[in-house]
Amino acid sequence: MNSLSSMMLVLGTTNAGKQKELAALLEPFHIECRSLKDFASAVHVAETGSTFADNAALKAVQQAKALNHWVLAEDSGLVVEALDGSPGVYSARFAGPEASDEDNNALLIKQLARVPTSHRVAYYACHATLAAPDGTIKAIAEGRCYGRIAKSAHGTEGFGYDPYFIIPEYHQTFGELSPAVKGLISHRGRAIRAIIPMIVSSFNIHSA
Ligand code: IMP
Repeated sequence: MNSLSSMMLVLGTTNAGKQKELAALLEPFHIECRSLKDFASAVHVAETGSTFADNAALKAVQQAKALNHWVLAEDSGLVVEALDGSPGVYSARFAGPEASDEDNNALLIKQLARVPTSHRVAYYACHATLAAPDGTIKAIAEGRCYGRIAKSAHGTEGFGYDPYFIIPEYHQTFGELSPAVKGLISHRGRAIRAIIPMIVSSFNIHSA
């Protein structure tokens, strides 16, 4: 039997920007979190799914089994209407397998060069999956955040496409808005707040 205090959650990501945001979102709930960097047995998970949900499940299940711990994984990305949904699940590797955020942003802006402001609508999506140590999926949740793609970069907060992602209500990009505001309205903030009650109840059941 586990006591609640001995149960910990591994955040199943190697992306430093995501790791920081996930830890901040979970912090008020006093769930003990670890990073994949804390485990030599963490595996590389190939993101072979065709949807955010498939890839989030692959990451959560494979890491949970490899580590024998509870894992919260997420798959997320940018969906641009004028690009027929691209970069979508390929957001991290839009400009190639080893692409940097700068490479991906440059390609995005190039592909949207002839698209007028009114047609640059986009959303971020985040699918979160909780897997138990045996790899069983215990909870899933998703969140979206709607915005528009700017023509030039603004701000240095966040990561990835954030300097180009305008939140219309604020007239600012996620690169300009504070991490606290991003946490409140982002795709990741929404998905994580939706899955937290399920994490807490899963931990309660397994520590009973
Ligand atoms: P994943 O690690 O396969 O889920 O890829 C996520 C990719 O989507 C990141 O590398 C970014 O390119 C993009 N992305 C997801 N969430 C965000 C965000 O909050 N801000 C900026 N880019 C994001």
